[in-house]
Amino acid sequence: MPRPVCPRRVAAAPPSPYFKPRGVPVSKLEETVLSVDELEALRLADLEGLYHEDAATRMNVSRATFGRIVEAARRKVAGVLVQGRALRIEGGVVEGPALRRFACISCRHQWSEPFGTGRPGACPGCGGDDFQRLDGGRCRPPARRRAGGRRRGRGRGGPGQDGHEPRGGTCE
Ligand SMILES: [Zn+2]
Repeated sequence: MPRPVCPRRVAAAPPSPYFKPRGVPVSKLEETVLSVDELEALRLADLEGLYHEDAATRMNVSRATFGRIVEAARRKVAGVLVQGRALRIEGGVVEGPALRRFACISCRHQWSEPFGTGRPGACPGCGGDDFQRLDGGRCRPPARRRAGGRRRGRGRGGPGQDGHEPRGGTCE
């Protein structure tokens, strides 16, 4: 089993999860997947112009790790632009005010979704639906806790808070 990855802190959710060349049907396009932490690395290094050291601190990773993330992200985006591919932004072990984290009980895959997108339909790792919301734990395996049937129509946990709903928070 791969070593668990500490969640990488991400300050902004992707404005759009999908980009594609104009006028070409999706079925004819090759797709590149950029993870949410790779997008955040591009934002910090290339848009905000931070030094890698500062950007690494913001994302809660080492400078070497940040260097690898941003390098991979630049290569992917360059490939998308030069080769005319579609770009899907999803996945990555991340946490942040604009994101909710989920963990699959079947395959242990972890991923994040922006607020306001509803409960994910299936685990991106195995396609199963036996997964649960994580409430911001750090570097420990997901608790094997059954989600009770409670589903309250609570607010969307909008940005501005620390982004973590109280324990037992429901998945929308
Ligand atoms: Zn799974």
